[in-house]
Amino acid sequence: MRIGAHVRDDDPVAAAAALGAEVVQLFVTDPQAWARPTPHPRAQQLRESDLTVVVHSAYVINVASLNNRIRIPSRKAVVQQAEAAAELGAVGLVVHGGHVRAGEDEADGIANWRKLFERQADAGGFAVPILVENTAGGDNAMARQVDVIARLWDAIGDHGAGFVLDTCHAWAGGEALVDVVERVRAVTGRIDLVHLNSSRDAFDSGRDRHANLADGTIDPQVLAAVCAAADAPVVLETPSAGVAEDLAFLRTALGS
Ligand SMILES: [Zn+2]
Repeated sequence: MRIGAHVRDDDPVAAAAALGAEVVQLFVTDPQAWARPTPHPRAQQLRESDLTVVVHSAYVINVASLNNRIRIPSRKAVVQQAEAAAELGAVGLVVHGGHVRAGEDEADGIANWRKLFERQADAGGFAVPILVENTAGGDNAMARQVDVIARLWDAIGDHGAGFVLDTCHAWAGGEALVDVVERVRAVTGRIDLVHLNSSRDAFDSGRDRHANLADGTIDPQVLAAVCAAADAPVVLETPSAGVAEDLAFLRTALGS
């Protein structure tokens, strides 16, 4: 099993080497801004490395949004960030499921996801696969509960979308982890990546605050079991001071 972490953006290859990571995840823009990606100074080094490279898209993106001033720049940002991810040899671009606002129809948000894929198919497709990630909070989220993920997948599954399972988000979103891999796979047919994080908050809190594996509210053995069941590359997005310890725990627990 390939295990790694989200690393600082400037020198991901060195960061991976320091951790002994086989997978690196990075941003290609300021995650809080609508900035166009600029060429990465380490692109060639990343492409030529043995690392599995994943790009996480900016947090401002919400392709489900019914608000034109969010959805239109979101579509553009996904296209641009997928192009930047391809330059790095990335296996995919992680995009959060997003949400609609209170009083809006979830079906319209799901339709916006479908339109994203349909429009881009007309333009030749995305430069790398789009990996949709489950989220922790909100009553109108597109990828919080497995039943909503099932409706989303009915709309986008045929367009080659991949799925990222974040354990903190599933737990805080109110999905039991013990069988979550099987339940997600039953609706998506796939899990392409695991974001392995513990949570600072309680089950079903709706809060998205990641914790190191030994410090969180989730049993670390349950987290290891999710990795084993998912059998997909694993990225830790835990507080950086404890990442090396988290990796060591996982390697021991998984015997890898
Ligand atoms: Zn994420």
